[in-house]
Amino acid sequence: MKSGSELPPGHMTWFDELPARVPRIDMHPSGLLCRHDQLCAACGNQKAIYRMDIGIFEPCGACHQRGWRLKRPRKLVPQWLLNALEAQGEG
Ligand SMILES: [Zn+2]
Repeated sequence: MKSGSELPPGHMTWFDELPARVPRIDMHPSGLLCRHDQLCAACGNQKAIYRMDIGIFEPCGACHQRGWRLKRPRKLVPQWLLNALEAQGEG
């Protein structure tokens, strides 16, 4: 495989040749249920759990029992403070 610096601008790289797959999500006419084809990101052999309320996939039930979670890390410093410090550094 060539390194990125040897490729001309706009050249399709080896990574880009395999596009990301969008999971199929079919909603039931009632709007209360859905089915999907996304596999669990932790084990890869069970279906993930689709959180319809927030539109994200979480690990399957077995992986949940083994402690796998999808987490959004809490920031120690609020974003507004980081922005203010960054703006102060530029000025
Ligand atoms: Zn799993």
